[in-house]
Amino acid sequence: MSLIARNLSKTYKEGVNNQTVFTGVSIVLDKGETLLVVGPAGSGKSTLINILGCLESPTTGTYLIGETDPLTFGRSKISRFRRDYLGFIFSEAYLLPQLTVLENTLIPCLATGLPLKADVAFAKELLEQMKIDNCQGLYPETLSRDQQQRAAAVRAMIKRPSLILADEPVSRLDARAVEPFVDDFLAAQKSCGSMLIMASDSPDFKEKFDRTARLEKTRWTISGRRKYGLDENDSVLNIRNESEPAPALGLDEDEYIQDIEMTQPKPEPQPEEGAELDAFRRRFQ
Ligand code: ADP
Ligand code: MG
Repeated sequence: MSLIARNLSKTYKEGVNNQTVFTGVSIVLDKGETLLVVGPAGSGKSTLINILGCLESPTTGTYLIGETDPLTFGRSKISRFRRDYLGFIFSEAYLLPQLTVLENTLIPCLATGLPLKADVAFAKELLEQMKIDNCQGLYPETLSRDQQQRAAAVRAMIKRPSLILADEPVSRLDARAVEPFVDDFLAAQKSCGSMLIMASDSPDFKEKFDRTARLEKTRWTISGRRKYGLDENDSVLNIRNESEPAPALGLDEDEYIQDIEMTQPKPEPQPEEGAELDAFRRRFQ
């Protein structure tokens, strides 16, 4: 499944002031592709991730995942879209302390009923790929920050989402833990076939990603300028694809859209019996 976002912009209204975070952000990704979005703090990385995650609306722009246009959806359809298409990971792991690592990774499965044996098997596979299979029965507080973040990565991938959105997932890791985390995360993401958009304030590992884009300050709205101490020439943020100076945006739109895989409705999973799942399920009944 592909992603096509065109001309996204975001302007926050703050009283009588408007703050334009970025304009003209366009992204085209194919199934399984990875994009690293780099930019300093405040450059709009989280705003972009939140828009692509339908956690907030863009001020302008269009957004398609496959043939699905989530910007036309109401609140409940957006919740279902997030559930069925997206996986999230942030700089904090946000694991639930009362659940084991394995149980934490299965939380997204609760949105469509109860976890299946196949979900447990896949969680174990991902835990192994993220090199924390020995932690599956442990509680989060006994894990290192790196191990917790690895569990959060498994939770983001457990439903094999079309798109994984990662907002600075390595910003709180020890420097030497960053590269092994990124390597294992990218290997696991590939086995899920998910697209990945990851925000980072550092371009250190950009060669590991299919594409890199930088959020840059080039112009700001007049009303926001004074507040942010910027002069007339510093304005709105733009995204540029560094690996391809003329990114896929130049494609003939009609032709490109015909290539997009059609979305098949996902079957609602039916719970299976299994002794291993019983204890976990009982917690939620
Ligand atoms: P980054 O993730 O790159 O650090 P953010 O997306 O968090 O950047 O923020 C980009 C800009 O948008 C910042 O100037 C921030 O103050 C502003 N911003 C973010 N969220 C809001 C909001 N809800 N209301 C007003 N301004 C916001
Ligand atoms: Mg941020």
